[in-house]
Amino acid sequence: MSQPHRTGPLRLALVGMGKIAHDQHVPAIAGNADIQLAATVSREGKGVAGVPHFRDIADLIASGIAIDAVSLCTPPQVRRAIAAQAIAQGWHVFLEKPPGATLAEVAQLQGAAAAAGISLFAGWHSRYAAGVEPARAFLAEAAIRSVTVTWREDIRVWHPGQAWILQAGGFGVFDPGINALSIVTRILPRPFFIADAELDFPENCDAPIAARITFGDDHGLRIAADLDFRQEGPQSWDIAVETDAGTLMLHDGGGRLVMPDGTEPTPVDALHGEYAGLYDRFVAVIRAGKSDVDIAPLRHVADAFLRGRRMIVAPFVE
Ligand code: NAP
Repeated sequence: MSQPHRTGPLRLALVGMGKIAHDQHVPAIAGNADIQLAATVSREGKGVAGVPHFRDIADLIASGIAIDAVSLCTPPQVRRAIAAQAIAQGWHVFLEKPPGATLAEVAQLQGAAAAAGISLFAGWHSRYAAGVEPARAFLAEAAIRSVTVTWREDIRVWHPGQAWILQAGGFGVFDPGINALSIVTRILPRPFFIADAELDFPENCDAPIAARITFGDDHGLRIAADLDFRQEGPQSWDIAVETDAGTLMLHDGGGRLVMPDGTEPTPVDALHGEYAGLYDRFVAVIRAGKSDVDIAPLRHVADAFLRGRRMIVAPFVE
C-alpha cells in the first residue's frame, strides 16, 4: 500500500539508536524542516526527549501512531527484516550504509518497495562529503592514470563495543572501506572491477580486519586500495587520483579536496554536512515518487569476498 500524499513534514521513525543515529541522524533531522522525528525504536538504546520510544518495529506498528518514513540505523545483519516490515506498512525507507548484508536481500527490498509504491533510499553518506562532487566534475574531463585509496583507522577508537562489525555479515574493515568505494564509484567516469584481493581475517573473527585490493578496467586504469582497521596514531581516509594534469587528492573521507594545481575549491566540511545532504536527498526522492539504490559499492565488497584470498592473522581482542 502506498502512502497518500499529504502536506506537512514527513513523520519519521529512527530505528537502531546507536552511535550514528545519535551523532548524525538526530541532529540532521532536527535541522530539516521537511522532517519531524515522530518515534525512535531500539531494544536498549536511549531515545530522544519528548519523542515516543518503542522497543522494536512490531511495537511501533502496534502503537498505530502515524509514520511516513523510517531510517534504519541498525547493523546490516538485521536491517532487511526491519525494512521489509516497514515497506509492508507503506512507509518510505532510508537504509544506512551498507544497504544490506547481501546483494540478494537488497534486490528483494527494491522489488518490494516498487510493488508497494514507496521510496527506498540507500544512503551512501561519504558521497555527500564536500569534495566529492567537485572531484567528480574535474575527473569527468581528465585522463585518469591511477587511483590509490588509503583507508586506515583504529577500530578501538571509532567502533568501541561494536562486536557486530567483526561478526559474519558485519563487513569488518569494509564497514569503513565501503565508504571509500562509495566515493570512488561516484567520482570515476567508468566502471571498474576487481583484479586481485587479499583479505586478513583474525583467527577469532568471521570478518576481515584488513584488505588489499587491486581493481582495473579495459583502459589500463589501476586502483589500489589499502584498508586497515588496526591503524594506531594518525588515521587516513585518503583517495589520490593521478591524472595527466597532476594528482587530485581527497582527504578526510572526501571532506577536503586538493586539486592538482594545489587549490582547494571547497570549504572543509564536517560529517554533519553529509547527513544534511542525505536527508535533503531522501525528501527529494520521496517527493519525486522514486527510489535511489545504487548497489555498486556493495557489489565491489561482495566481489572482494568472492575473489579475494583469505589470510589468517593474529586474533583481535578489543
Ligand atoms: P551501533 O553504535 O552499534 O548502533 C547500532 C544500533 O542498532 C545499536 O545501538 C542497537 O540498538 C541496534 N541493534 C538492533 N539490532 C542489533 C543487533 N542484532 N546487534 C547490534 N545492534 C543492534 O552502530 P553504528 O556505528 O551506529 O552503525 C550502525 C550502522 O550505521 C552500520 O551499518 C554502520 O555501517 C552505519 N554507519 C556508522 C557510522 C559510524 O561512524 N559509526 C557512520 C556511518 C554509517 P539496540 O540494542 O538498542 O536495539
